[in-house]
Amino acid sequence: MKELVVISGKGGTGKTSIVASFAALAQNAVLADCDVDAADLHLILEPRVKQTSDFIGGKQASVVTEKCIGCGKCEDVCNFDAVFFNGQANDVVEKTYTIDPIACEGCGVCTYFCQNDAIEFKDTVNGQWFISDTRFGPMVHAKLGIAEENSGKLVSLIRKETKRIAEEQKKDLIIVDGSPGIGCPVIASITGADIVLIVTEPTLSGKHDLERVAELAAGFNIPTLIAINKFDLNPDMVTQIEEDARKRNMKVIGKIRYDKAFTKAQIMKCSVVEYTGGAVTEDIKALWRNVTYAF
Ligand code: SF4
Ligand code: SF4
Repeated sequence: MKELVVISGKGGTGKTSIVASFAALAQNAVLADCDVDAADLHLILEPRVKQTSDFIGGKQASVVTEKCIGCGKCEDVCNFDAVFFNGQANDVVEKTYTIDPIACEGCGVCTYFCQNDAIEFKDTVNGQWFISDTRFGPMVHAKLGIAEENSGKLVSLIRKETKRIAEEQKKDLIIVDGSPGIGCPVIASITGADIVLIVTEPTLSGKHDLERVAELAAGFNIPTLIAINKFDLNPDMVTQIEEDARKRNMKVIGKIRYDKAFTKAQIMKCSVVEYTGGAVTEDIKALWRNVTYAF
């Protein structure tokens, strides 16, 4: 079984549209949406959810007012300024301590030091993840709560589940819509993958973002390929990107022309290759062929 992860230096490069087209062109693939901070592959693939599970991203502390004796030890040991002396009275003291759930990082130190067992330390549900069916095969995806963190942990969970399904259903390919950028979620997206495909566009910011993400991918020693979307908009920049790629020992294996079909297909909730048989679809098919040769 092989795992292809498609990433980009930033959002808006057409990465998800390309992944959706790959899903349509692939045979026997399991799909994963690891762009959990801005998941939108589901908008094109319209998954039918079969299983929903809570995502436990971490833990959080809270004071049990009735048990607190107001000693202040929790405030002393909290390195995140999450503890406040503003809680309600109880039978023992006129004021107790409380914990700000937003400031609490869930380190658990206060729980350890509270001698009165007055701090609860509970799992926090940061979102949900789903196992679904799509018209192109099974898909694992997620919805992270607003302003929730730990998306790297969620990405790892999605990839693990995708692998399990691929093994169970004897699928030979996993296609991952990876997170953009160079942060924790993208690291979680590419670690241990067989091939990384970076989607970029020929603009100065696209080139700059490509450099950053290419450097990151190189650090993981994973074969990395590059696709340039909207290549016809700036031929000079395409040449520069190709030169940069050569220096990095990375190959530009596909170029896709600018076409409004990307937007129109999204509106119609379909992939570009389903939407049109035009030249842009031929570009994507050629890119897909080159990706499969690289395995
Ligand atoms: S350490 Fe425990 S008993 Fe002391 S103030 Fe904090 S919660 Fe209350
Ligand atoms: S769990 Fe850690 S961050 Fe949260 S209140 Fe306790 S010491 Fe502070």
